[in-house]
Amino acid sequence: MKKYNFNAGPCVLPKSAIEASIEAIHDFDNTGIGILEISHRTPGWEKVIKDCTDLWFELLQIPDNYKVIFLGGGASTQFFYVPANLMKKKAAYMQTGVWAKKAIKEAKFYGDVEVIASSEDKGYSYIPKGYTIPTDVDYFHITTNNTIVGTEIKEDMDSPVPLVADMSSDIMSRPVDISKYGVIYGGAQKNVGPAGVSFVIIREDLLGKVDRPLPGMIDYRSHIKGKSMYNTPPVFPIYVMFQTLKWVKEMGGVEKMHQINKDKAKMLYDEIDRNKMFVGTAAKEDRSIMNVCFVMNDEFKDEEAAFLKFATEQGMVGIKGHRSVGGFRTSIYNSCPVEAVEALIKCMQDFEKKY
Ligand SMILES: *Cc1c(COP(=O)(O)O)cnc(C)c1O
Repeated sequence: MKKYNFNAGPCVLPKSAIEASIEAIHDFDNTGIGILEISHRTPGWEKVIKDCTDLWFELLQIPDNYKVIFLGGGASTQFFYVPANLMKKKAAYMQTGVWAKKAIKEAKFYGDVEVIASSEDKGYSYIPKGYTIPTDVDYFHITTNNTIVGTEIKEDMDSPVPLVADMSSDIMSRPVDISKYGVIYGGAQKNVGPAGVSFVIIREDLLGKVDRPLPGMIDYRSHIKGKSMYNTPPVFPIYVMFQTLKWVKEMGGVEKMHQINKDKAKMLYDEIDRNKMFVGTAAKEDRSIMNVCFVMNDEFKDEEAAFLKFATEQGMVGIKGHRSVGGFRTSIYNSCPVEAVEALIKCMQDFEKKY
């Protein structure tokens, strides 16, 4: 049976990226040697890193005063790289979910953290509004898409201090005005590749301002200088990310992706709002176009397991909500085809007909 993959991360990737990557495992760049077996100090590989970096600049129209680097350790490692490199004394954070909370915890190792807005009071079901960003902090940290609860900050905000964003789960899903940010980071495994590599986009003039000594591996400047090869980079994940970005470009770039993503999300939210059995969990105005979360309507509370079973039998994969939230979460990242969303909607409609 055909499977429709709604996993939250790692998740679905473009077919073309998978196929090109399999090919490279057998024979990288017509060298007769596979990509898992080459040295990262070969011209063929150096070209991959360069072309991949260039593609980031091209797709997101990143200005020249920024650098893009690829690192191991996942987005969670950036939770402490960011304060280590940028926090002199104090930083402001917005707490919009579990990931934001973890970022806050790690930042506290380096200085004072001021949580200036939080939606914890309502289970992170909305994005806080009406807060003021202080001017006496070194940066303001936000999580643009809250993967677990399905809320999203959809516009690039103005900030009087450098804006730092965890964009793990919505990078490349929409055009971003990079110039409004100081640092953007994330793990690749939600929207731009497999697990094992993270991306960091940094305005270079923000670096070198802290007094603390930084081990080379934590210092962004080492990785910038080494062009993402300060140490052995995650070669294969970077290669798959490169192929994924090539697909984004072939699809028409991030503007086109944004249109497709908005259409997919609207179809699914419309069905959730129409269908008497389901109800969305995120505040309507803050609904994520990447992670769509819903639960059974009160009247049908006892049917949760039945719907999961029914949907699984129809080929839906990875729709169970995060263990901390329950219900359902369907992740419809860039690489999730519209047919998958249509199949899920049909499944919801067929389930409703049974009652
Ligand atoms: C998945 C996720 C993370 C954690 O990523 P790791 O690469 O597993 O460390 C952090 N932030 C957000 C928004 C995420 O979705």
